[in-house]
Amino acid sequence: LTDTDALIIGAGPVGLYQAFQLGLLGLRVHLVDALPHVGGQCAELYPDKPLYDIPGLAVCTGQELVAALALQLRPFAPTLHLGQLVQRVARQPDHRWQVSTNQGQSIVARVVVIAAGIGAFVPRALKVEGADTLVGKQLFYQLDSLATYAGQHVVVVGGDELALSWVMRLAGQPPEHRPRHISLLHRRAVLTAPADLLRQFDALCQAGRTSLVVGQPTRLTPATGTQAGSLEIAAPEGSPGALAADAVLAATGLSPQLGPLAGWGLALERKQLVVDPATCATDQPGVFAVGDINTYPGKKKLIVCGFHESVMAAYAAAAIVHPDVAQPLLYTTTSTLLHQRLGVAH
Ligand SMILES: Cc1cc2nc3c(=O)[nH]c(=O)nc-3n(C[C@H](O)[C@H](O)[C@H](O)COP(=O)(O)OP(=O)(O)OC[C@H]3O[C@@H](n4cnc5c(N)ncnc54)[C@H](O)[C@@H]3O)c2cc1C
Repeated sequence: LTDTDALIIGAGPVGLYQAFQLGLLGLRVHLVDALPHVGGQCAELYPDKPLYDIPGLAVCTGQELVAALALQLRPFAPTLHLGQLVQRVARQPDHRWQVSTNQGQSIVARVVVIAAGIGAFVPRALKVEGADTLVGKQLFYQLDSLATYAGQHVVVVGGDELALSWVMRLAGQPPEHRPRHISLLHRRAVLTAPADLLRQFDALCQAGRTSLVVGQPTRLTPATGTQAGSLEIAAPEGSPGALAADAVLAATGLSPQLGPLAGWGLALERKQLVVDPATCATDQPGVFAVGDINTYPGKKKLIVCGFHESVMAAYAAAAIVHPDVAQPLLYTTTSTLLHQRLGVAH
């Protein structure tokens, strides 16, 4: 069981800046995010789009902002747990909080800051009959352990860069580890991916190692003793068909879901966590909420507002972690203590 001063749920722009502010106040921090990378909406929804309202930056893209926040945070080196969805937040008898993830990780923290934005980005479920019971057996939302697909009929569902990159990674395996055949199933014949990836895919199709199938999946059937697994499809024209499918890999995109947060016993108002704006404290002692996930009178869902909230939450959190230590306001310009923490002391 890992133990820390503060645990932040969500590594979007506000969660990252929250980690920086807690670091300035000398707290040990862990950060958890369901995505495999930091940056939240900025990284996931608009990495290449320009923002014009970040203080002091005339313009920067979503990804540039994330990179700048990650660089600023580096002196504090918080422990990152990426690709992990927080499922449970429960109070311990000693008033600390135990946070558990879907990967079996358990962390005990004195304070928890929820920076969950518009929810956890999780794979969009493939809506086909029979899918629910086959997740992790015949239906997968991630491509790992590539060798398990050796000799199989694999269907990749999707038409974007991610779907094509999965096809390429599978096809690029050494012959003994390769699937027998890879079908790319997409609702239309047009794929959206960089030109060189499209060229490589075409070449594999010409060689008969992959094929593009146009249609919508409707039903997934597991293998039986005599029959292979299959994915039934409705084609835009013509009669429905079926593809041999020992494994289906769904690259159907990510969507934000409030998910487990609603069950943690915190006061919610229209799916937002109600906080006191002076501290960003929720109604549970030691649990704070900052950024898009919180609400209070006059709330604006802007990054700059989340940054301000992170400062308020950091001071209130530090007062809980170190109740006997005063937390005077210190300037990063002049404070020797902050210089030491930032690693810029001369
Ligand atoms: C197209 C677009 C343009 C925008 N332009 C601007 C702009 O110009 N200026 C501006 O100020 N704002 C802009 N915004 C809004 C801005 O992106 C948000 O205000 C900001 O991302 C909020 O940051 P956050 O850290 O609170 O949440 P998010 O960025 O949503 O990050 C939350 C993170 O928490 C994770 N998470 C949630 N629940 C869990 C869980 N249970 N377990 C693990 N992880 C979890 C999610 O995976 C996510 O990564 C824009 C938004 C969009 C969509």
